Amino acid sequence: MTIRPIVILPDLKLRLVSEPVKEITDAIRTLTDDMLETMYDAPGVGLAAIQIGVPLRIVTVDVSKSETERQPMVLINPEILWTSEEKRTYEEGCLSIPEYYEEVERPDRVRFRYMNLDGKIIEQEAGELMATCVQHEIDHLNGVLFIDYLSKLKRDRVMTKFKKAAKREASGA
Ligand SMILES: [Zn+2]
Repeated sequence: MTIRPIVILPDLKLRLVSEPVKEITDAIRTLTDDMLETMYDAPGVGLAAIQIGVPLRIVTVDVSKSETERQPMVLINPEILWTSEEKRTYEEGCLSIPEYYEEVERPDRVRFRYMNLDGKIIEQEAGELMATCVQHEIDHLNGVLFIDYLSKLKRDRVMTKFKKAAKREASGA
């Protein structure tokens, strides 16, 4: 397993719409192993393949927040089937937008479908952190970031901050 570099804002790759996975191959298994390794190393509770620069509809999740009892999940081609009317606000962050957290309102519960690494289609309902995480990660597959839900003022502010940081990095300062 390899820890891969995480794509950081304002990299435009984060705005790509990822392609469905057609077949679970060894390359896909290696990719998902690397995604889990990268996610745990960061550390984060979710990662989309595009966040390591691969535009495929794959998400890894582990909301257990426990190093001793990990509950890794690999969601291939995940889709939201239903969302509750009821909303909940959660303070979100993103490995591609490091050290920035803001409250985002999303549906409280979701029902979603995905394929696992054995090629089995699974339907599941989730609430709490899992519901937020699944929605946040599936957004990544569609080029959507959590900052898109914030006011334009807040979004502009964070974009400016990360653009400046990228420029500094590029100039080696
Ligand atoms: Zn994210």
